[in-house]
Amino acid sequence: MTTIGFIGLGNMGAPMVKNLLAAGHTVKAYDIVPELLDATQATKAESAAGAVKGAEMVITMLPAGPHVSGVYMESVLDNAEAGALLIDCSTIDVETARAVAAVAAERGLDMLDAPVSGGVGGSEAGTLTFMVGGPDQAFEKGRPILEVMGKTIVHTGGSGNGQVAKICNNMILGATMIAVGEGFVMAENLGLDKQVLFDIVSTSSASCFAITSHCPVPGPVPESAANRDFQAGFTAAMMLKDLKLAQAAAQTAGTATPMGAAAAAMFGLFCGAGNEALDYSGIIKMIRGK
Ligand code: NAD
Repeated sequence: MTTIGFIGLGNMGAPMVKNLLAAGHTVKAYDIVPELLDATQATKAESAAGAVKGAEMVITMLPAGPHVSGVYMESVLDNAEAGALLIDCSTIDVETARAVAAVAAERGLDMLDAPVSGGVGGSEAGTLTFMVGGPDQAFEKGRPILEVMGKTIVHTGGSGNGQVAKICNNMILGATMIAVGEGFVMAENLGLDKQVLFDIVSTSSASCFAITSHCPVPGPVPESAANRDFQAGFTAAMMLKDLKLAQAAAQTAGTATPMGAAAAAMFGLFCGAGNEALDYSGIIKMIRGK
């Protein structure tokens, strides 16, 4: 059994801690929000440094790059035990992921970036997908712990490559959801029944996850958010965050991503109109002009 320091007990982090405890690991947890700390069954640490001291493994699940950079530079790296493995599961920019891992390596510490997909449901069920960047031996060491929280664990290459995989996936998903929304609205306006369009497209060359799992019109996929007035799910705000990360990465890499840029702009408008909390598939409302 492993002693784990866990920092960030939000929507994703808290259920991950629950699963680690259920598997018999010792978890020392910390969050800046005292109520979240009170709610956990893990051993409560009084600070991030307190969670890290004495831990064989440190896992962080924080909102964005500046939080990760701050927590690692101010608390984790100075207090980690020799030989401790550091795993950041937050979705952050590639540059920060690589920079923090490089400083960790200078201090002789292995670090993995391991962003997830699967949402809060996947976190609760322990069925997350982890996209993991970092050295081979660190990946092998971290894998058994990641398997407690996830079903699919993929080694994507060196440091930062987990974040690359995550933002490429979500850039493709954001752009395809807009394209799917346009298709359904055009069909509506031209008098083609949505179920007929679904039956054709879901078995034809344009079939994709945005249609088969997150279909943005009610009916064809009963569990999609469109059937519950776009109650999230995966919020438009989260999609916008990932699309912005993708745009930043595209700029760094000198990659032209006009579809990704258009998707970021559209989700920016959608969120700016007060729809941040809606499911991202609700972007079809904007396409309808509503
Ligand atoms: P969240 O905001 O619910 O949780 C983040 C937690 O970090 C909060 O409880 C916050 O208090 C804590 N925190 C912030 N700064 C801290 C600090 N300095 N020290 C200690 N704790 C601190 O966010 P979430 O939904 O749990 O998401 C976490 C990460 O996972 C994000 O990067 C997000 O993009 C990614 N993600 C989320 C989902 C999802 O569906 N929620 C899906 C995939 C990936």
